Amino acid sequence: MNKYLQDLIKLSKYDGVISMFEPKIENEKAKLSTFVEVAESIKSKINETYAQIDDVKSKRTKNNIHLAELKSKLDDISRKNNEVTNEKELKALQLEEEIAKEQISFANEEIERLDSIAVAKEEELKELQSRLTEEEESIKEIQIAVDNAIEEINQERNVVSQQRAELLEEFDKKILTFYQKIRRWAKDSAVVPVKNQACYGCFMKINDKTYSEVIKSEEIINCPHCGRILYKEDESTEEA
Ligand SMILES: [Zn+2]
Repeated sequence: MNKYLQDLIKLSKYDGVISMFEPKIENEKAKLSTFVEVAESIKSKINETYAQIDDVKSKRTKNNIHLAELKSKLDDISRKNNEVTNEKELKALQLEEEIAKEQISFANEEIERLDSIAVAKEEELKELQSRLTEEEESIKEIQIAVDNAIEEINQERNVVSQQRAELLEEFDKKILTFYQKIRRWAKDSAVVPVKNQACYGCFMKINDKTYSEVIKSEEIINCPHCGRILYKEDESTEEA
């Protein structure tokens, strides 16, 4: 096989492998980010619940103040009861007393309602905090696994980059420029095998003359349809 063609096949394979490293790393990071997102959403629910508890507590305080006011009003009414001089005044006081008592019972009911909400919210908060702890533990574990996987990918990348650099040391400059021009649009499929007499870049059938030249492998042959560099894959490597 033409030496330049051999070099091109190698270079293209290295480049193909190198392009796959970044998506692999992104894929690893994505595993972690789903867990981080869940943890963030739990945190924001925790903050919401804290705010709701504060709100309930401040409403409860207001009701307590109102209750105290109503009780002192009742005291007032009972004091005035002793000073009543006629039926009309008595009736007015009785009405006032009735209203105040009704308001007291409303305020008490409201406090009871708010207390039960507060209990439920505290329970919710505990639940959320334990879920967050669980999630944060998972994140720690996954973080380690992801870091290890990325470390491994980077090591592989260093090996391949080193091999590529070594190959380039003795690479023909013109052939390299030629390859890079095709690679600019063909990306990782600048050098492609011919299978079933078809170019594996554009998947079009190539004519018998070009095909026989590809089989001979004496020269660098471009696909007549798309311009990619063609080679006849070895049966043994094709299997692999
Ligand atoms: Zn083609």
